[in-house]
Amino acid sequence: MSKGLHNASYRNHCDLAERQVAELPEVIRRFWPKVAVGAATECWLWQGGRSGEGYGSFRIGRHRMGAHRVAWSLTYGPIPDGADILHSCDVKRCCNPSHLSPGTHTDNMRDASARGLLAVPHPTMPRKLTTEQVSEILTHVARNGRGAITEMARKHGVSQPLVSMIVRGARRQYDSIERVG
Ligand SMILES: [Zn+2]
Repeated sequence: MSKGLHNASYRNHCDLAERQVAELPEVIRRFWPKVAVGAATECWLWQGGRSGEGYGSFRIGRHRMGAHRVAWSLTYGPIPDGADILHSCDVKRCCNPSHLSPGTHTDNMRDASARGLLAVPHPTMPRKLTTEQVSEILTHVARNGRGAITEMARKHGVSQPLVSMIVRGARRQYDSIERVG
């Protein structure tokens, strides 16, 4: 099935490309303040501009990229070739990585993606972290302080800003649970 020209060019030009990997800390620094990060299960709404289709729109260099695609990529790594990033919550502005998953219009690709076959680790982009790795990071940083962030980033092969983000995110979720209780 053919896709609209707009969709096609939007996708082709707007993934985090090789040359943009060097700008990753800058991207992370600019991106997350524009997301209303909430509790783990809530929708995290994009506060910046939007595309004509209603998705959050984030500028990287000369290109615009769907904010939900940036959120997924910063959390899990490169978007599998040709994949769309789908919302389980159906809220187009939502950037909560746990509401997002890669999918395509063909069953084969969707199945492959579900099995993790398309999540190819990239040498410099953040890899997908397992739940166990995330909990190890959180425990280790809680015990040893923020100085342990560098050590954890090196050990798990991800960027320091990503580890900081995970630690900050967990802290915020913990705070919001505290407030409710
Ligand atoms: Zn959502």
